Amino acid sequence: SNRTFTMVKPDATGKGYTGAILDQIIKAGFSIKAMKWTKLTKEQAGEFYAVHKERPFYGELVEFMSSGTIVAAILEKENAVADFRTLIGATNPANAEEGTIRKKFAASVGENAVHGSDSDENAAIEGDFFFSALERF
Ligand code: ATP
Repeated sequence: SNRTFTMVKPDATGKGYTGAILDQIIKAGFSIKAMKWTKLTKEQAGEFYAVHKERPFYGELVEFMSSGTIVAAILEKENAVADFRTLIGATNPANAEEGTIRKKFAASVGENAVHGSDSDENAAIEGDFFFSALERF
């Protein structure tokens, strides 16, 4: 598919990195098909990350993702899911390639600046979580 879903996470919005991150995403050839500023409740963050429920960091992840503003967006580009994961870099910024968004803007494996869907199926599910048909094109 040619779409993926992203969030600028609360660490990055709080540090004022949103503009620079969106700029890098657009310059890499992604177009924004939907976007919103919002804040998740703990319940909503828990539901979004339900797939990680059994992981030891789940509680920390839910706390963090509901701690501040996020920017959610649907992005379009050829080979969107894989190309976006290359653009953001490894989950742990210590292992991320030079020039990637996480290398530049992430502080730690938990507070890692951005989310990127890991499959076409999850990109569709995650986009539907945040956006109605009227909010995207
Ligand atoms: P994302 O799904 O956000 O794009 P990812 O696919 O690179 O991230 P996952 O392994 O799916 O990474 O983990 C989901 C999120 O959980 C990570 O982005 C990070 O915020 C958090 N996380 C992962 N591992 C840890 C950890 N060891 N400690 C704390 N938080 C973690």
